[in-house]
Order: sequence, then structure tokens, then C-alpha cells
Amino acid sequence: MEPTQQNVDRLKKAKHVCRDCGMRHGDLADERALYGRGICDVCDKLTAVTKSETFNCLYRGLCTLRRRKGRADREAARAGTVG
Ligand SMILES: [Zn+2]
Repeated sequence: MEPTQQNVDRLKKAKHVCRDCGMRHGDLADERALYGRGICDVCDKLTAVTKSETFNCLYRGLCTLRRRKGRADREAARAGTVG
């Protein structure tokens, strides 16, 4: 996932996520979570989804993405492509 503001917002606002995205970006907090058919707010696939709370609201992925974005922004600034 590219470290863009768009993707940071996407993880932050995700309400329903599939298991793949949940495990990739978050930590499983509830083994017995119920899944229903719906659109994953992270990958946009129609699949079995559950609440993002099941994966600690994708907190780990959000932190990683924010850190990577900060680094990318600093590098861009140093390269003179920003400002
Ligand atoms: Zn997904």
C-alpha cells in the first residue's frame, strides 16, 4: 500500500474489512467475530467482511503507513519536489 494521505484516510475510516486486509493491516482481537457478505473498505472487494474493531481498527497498519508517509514526505521535501 502506497504511503499516501488517501490510503491513511482509507485505513482510518474503514468500517468493514475482509480477513485478508484485517490480518495484513491490523491484529486479530476477536477470534469469534461474525462475517457477512459486503464490500471491504480497504481493498473494495465483495467478499466476507467483518467490523474493523475485530482487527483493532487496523491500528498497526495505520501507524506503519503514517510513519512511511512521514519519511516519504521528508524525502520528497529534500529532493525539492515539494514547496
Ligand atoms: Zn480487503
